[in-house]
Formats: sequence, C-alpha cells, structure tokens
Amino acid sequence: MRRITFCLLIALLFMFSCAQAAESRTFFAMDTMMTLQAPDADDALLDQCEDRIYQLEEKISVTNAESQIARLNAGEAVAIDDEVRSLLAFAFDMSDETGGALDITLYPIVRAWGFTTGEYRVPADEEIVALLAYVGDRSISVSSDTLQLPDGVMIDLGSVAKGYASDVLAGLLRENGVDRALVDLGGNIYCIGSKAEASPRRIGLQSPTGDSYIAALSVSDCAIVTSGVYERYFEADGVRYGHIFDPSTGRPVNGDLLSVTVVGKSGARCDALSTALFVMGSEKAGAWLRAHDDVEALLLSEDALLITDGLRGIVKISDDYASLPVQWIER
Ligand code: AMP
Ligand code: MG
Repeated sequence: MRRITFCLLIALLFMFSCAQAAESRTFFAMDTMMTLQAPDADDALLDQCEDRIYQLEEKISVTNAESQIARLNAGEAVAIDDEVRSLLAFAFDMSDETGGALDITLYPIVRAWGFTTGEYRVPADEEIVALLAYVGDRSISVSSDTLQLPDGVMIDLGSVAKGYASDVLAGLLRENGVDRALVDLGGNIYCIGSKAEASPRRIGLQSPTGDSYIAALSVSDCAIVTSGVYERYFEADGVRYGHIFDPSTGRPVNGDLLSVTVVGKSGARCDALSTALFVMGSEKAGAWLRAHDDVEALLLSEDALLITDGLRGIVKISDDYASLPVQWIER
C-alpha cells in the first residue's frame, strides 16, 4: 500500500512538473511562424513572451487599421508611444547609416506591388515614379509627442520588427533567469547561451532553394538574421518579384545576392542590416562590412560566398556549397 501511495505521489509530481515545464512554444504572429525553445522556461513565461509579441504587433502592424503605424499611414496625428518612437528613430538612423538602402518610407511602393496586402501586381512605370515622390523623406521628426506624416508618406517596420522582437524576447527570457534558449522568428534567430553548457549551438543557414543548407554557424548569445527574396515573392509572366525593394528604383532588388545573413548582439540591427546589405549587392555590401566590424555576415551570391573574417572557425560550409569560392572580408 505504502509503495502504491509513493508511486502515485511520484506520478502526481511528474504530471505537475510537466504542466509547469515547457520545452517549446510555437505561434503565428507578424505573418510568421514563431518558435521559442526554452527548456528552463515555464508555461507562464512563454505565455508572457507570446503576449508581448501580440502587443507589439498590435502597435506596428500595417494591416491592422487600429495600429499606431496604420493610423499614421492613414494621415492621422498619432500620440505614438515610447516603443514605437524608439523603433522609428532606430529605423531612420539605420537609413542614414546604410546610405538609404534601408528605408521604411518605402511602404507606398511595397504596397503598390501587393506585398503586405497579398494583392500582387506589377505597377506601371508611371505609378512607380509617382509613388517614389513620397519615398525617402528625411524631414520626419519623431521627437514631438504627436507624429503626423506628410501627405502620401507611409511607413512599414517590416524590415526591422522581427529582429527587434527577438531582442525583446531574449531580454524577457534572460530577466526571468533563462540562460539557454533559441528564439526563432522566421529568418530571425536569437540564441541565448548554448545548447549544452560547454558547446556552442549550431545554426543552419537555409539555402535559397529551401532544400538544403548553405552553412552552419557555431554560436552562442547572438542574433542571426537572414534576408532573401525566396522568403516572400510572387511570379508574373515567368518573372519572380521578391519582397525586398531598391529605394532608388521602386522595384524589387535585382542584384547579385541570393541571401544575406548578419550575426551580432542586436537582433534589430542585424535585421536592418540583412535587408540593407541585400539591397546594396555584393560590392557595396562588402565595402560597408569592411568599414563596420560590430557585426559579422555571410553573403551568398550566384558565384561566391562572401564571409567576414570574424566568422573564421565558426562557419562550416555545407557540402552543397563547398564548390563555391569563398571571399573573406578582412577588417
Ligand atoms: P526583411 O525580411 O527583414 O529583409 O524585410 C523585408 C520587408 O521589409 C519587406 O517585406 C517589406 O515589407 C519591407 N522592405 C522591403 N524593402 C525594403 C527596404 N529597402 N527598406 C526597408 N524596408 C523594406
Ligand atoms: Mg530585415
């Protein structure tokens, strides 16, 4: 009898601990399947993480008419909150730092091509030229309490939001004592600690065709963000149009890069840069990276892999890409 009671007690304890411990959580937000793997987090903490992302989405979604960003885009004067204000200020700074390759005021163009609305189309040349008049406004100041965009100007934080969200989640998990976790928000990964204490985590960088890996990175405590058109695109008359646009032409980037991965401490910065370097193309992106050593990057072009020197010993090229020449970007 005593043994049965003991076994029951153990079983109850096991059930209780299963209800508390949460290995991972998958949910859909920001148009992306998101996964949190945090073996030491409980369900309540993962609920908190999930809610935090829904709150952020509610503030910045361009498709939710009630969001602060959608109301700005509708021409309203909006009392933006501190989080939206600092995200906007960050995105404008990143525009300056990347010579305008990243530009959140591109939204009228992005929308005209049907991205974010799902009504894909190739706009006429005149329409693109007309919309470009509203792109690149550098006079927008986010310092006053209320912000109102000039007529016709619209913004979209899609190029930085998920990287920022990964920082927020990493912060929340760490504050709550979690020291090993993998935050995977589509192409935006944040790695807290390492899988086992002693060894770094190996993160696979998906190939643009989606069926293999370009390389694996052995990392801990950093963000790894990848941009490529294969993530989102549409086809019309046999032409593939990707979701990353060149602000100088108002057209999908048609450069020599297939994929850009940026590694660094800030997910938001890595996200901004993966988009911007993709826009720049390999030559300008290589020059930009030579002048900035606070991030590492791996760029896949049609005929080479460009890799910053800080990834030496950390990157392992997969067999499928081993025949491509590697150009090291030395700093
Ligand atoms: P990402 O997936 O981070 O590379 O960001 C791409 C998303 O940002 C697109 O789906 C558009 O909504 C938006 N976008 C496209 N091109 C740019 C650009 N040059 N600058 C800023 N945002 C852009
Ligand atoms: Mg980005």
